[in-house]
Order: sequence, then C-alpha cells, then structure tokens
Amino acid sequence: MQKTLADALALKPCPFCAGPASMLKSVTFKCYGVECEKCPAQLGVVFDSYGDPEHRYASPEEAAAAWNQRAGEGVKVPAHG
Ligand SMILES: [Zn+2]
Repeated sequence: MQKTLADALALKPCPFCAGPASMLKSVTFKCYGVECEKCPAQLGVVFDSYGDPEHRYASPEEAAAAWNQRAGEGVKVPAHG
C-alpha cells in the first residue's frame, strides 16, 4: 500500500512537551521546518535568524520525516537560540 501525502505529513507530538507540532514554511529560504506549538522546539530553518542552515528541508515530507524521527529519539533541544 502506498502512503498518502497526509500520512507523510503527519507529525508526531513534540518529544519534549507532547504538544502539537506544526509544519512551517520559510519563504525566504524556500524550505520547511516543524515547530512545537507549546515550547521552543523547532526543526529546520523557519525564521530568518533561527535554526541551523545545515538542516533545511526542501519539502514538507522531509521536514515531517525528520521531526518524527527526532520525536522517536527523545533527544533534547539545545537551549541556545
Ligand atoms: Zn514542545
């Protein structure tokens, strides 16, 4: 069975606070990121001055996959930034 786009974009809850996650798009960088709605957890470059330039996701599917992988790891978000 093929995964639907909705499946590919489904975001797991935040690994840090279990809050809902949102897909965000940076128009400036033409890339996607995922951000927790309840805490500063963020993946991908979303805002001009935030994020690691090495972690830009060209598609929402990539950003969702990366977020979901991190959500499974239970790692901490760096406090800086
Ligand atoms: Zn969170």
